[in-house]
Amino acid sequence: MSRNFQTAGIVLKNNRFGEIHKGVILLSPEHGLLSAVAYGACSAKGKLRSVTNPLCAGTFFLYRDPVKDSIKITDMDCRDFFEGVRSGIVKFFTASVWLEIILKTFGGDAEETFSLLLESLRLLDACTEDSASRFLVQFLWRYLELAGAAPATDVCAGCGETRSENQGLVYYRGASGFFCRECAASSRESVFLSAGALGCLRYSRGLPLEKAAACSPDAASFAALKKAMLFLAEDFAGGPLNSIRTGKGIL
Ligand SMILES: [Zn+2]
Repeated sequence: MSRNFQTAGIVLKNNRFGEIHKGVILLSPEHGLLSAVAYGACSAKGKLRSVTNPLCAGTFFLYRDPVKDSIKITDMDCRDFFEGVRSGIVKFFTASVWLEIILKTFGGDAEETFSLLLESLRLLDACTEDSASRFLVQFLWRYLELAGAAPATDVCAGCGETRSENQGLVYYRGASGFFCRECAASSRESVFLSAGALGCLRYSRGLPLEKAAACSPDAASFAALKKAMLFLAEDFAGGPLNSIRTGKGIL
C-alpha cells in the first residue's frame, strides 16, 4: 500500500485526544476497521471537524506514516451526513446500535458489511421514526447472517426437529439457537417468536432490504422479534451494548 491512499468509509466512532486532535475509527469496504488520526479536527477552525463525526460517510484521503505506524486523515469528501438519522431519536439510537455492534464484533467480509451499513443508513435516513425499528430488525438479522451467527429458523437447536411454517420457536439469553417449547425449558429470560415473526426472518434473505423491512407480522410478534434481535446482538457481542442500554424505552 502506498503512503497516500484513499478509501470509501463510514465513521463509527471518534475520541478527542490532546487539545485539538481526534482519533477516528471508520469502516472501509477494502480495509475493514481502520483507526486514523484527524489532526486539528477538534479545533474551531479544523477543516475535518464536522466530517469526522460518527455516521459521516464518504471518501477518506489517508496517509500512512511508516515510522509511527499510524494513519492520518488528510482530507474527507463527505457524501452522506445522515441528517435525517441525527434528527430523530429512534433513528439515532437505531444507528448507534449498528455502529456499536460492528465496532465490537466485526470480523467478516468488509465489503458486504460496508454495503449493508450504508444501505441501511440511507433507508433509515429517509424513513419515519415509526418504521425505524423495522430496519433495526433487518440490519441486525442480516449482520448476524453475514457473521454466520444467525440461528436456524426452521429447526429446533435442541432436538433438531424440523418446524413447519406455522410453528414458532423460543430464543433465550445466551442460547446459540432457537428452540421448540419442549426444549426451551430454562430459567433464563426468553422470548417466543411466532410463526409470523420467523417468517419475516426466513423470507428476508431473498428480498431487497427495503422490501424485507416492510414484512409486518402482528404488533406483538414484531415486538418479540425486535426484543429477540437485541438479545441476539448483545449475546453475539459477548456483553451489554451501551447503545441498547441507553436507548432502553426508545428502541
Ligand atoms: Zn426441540
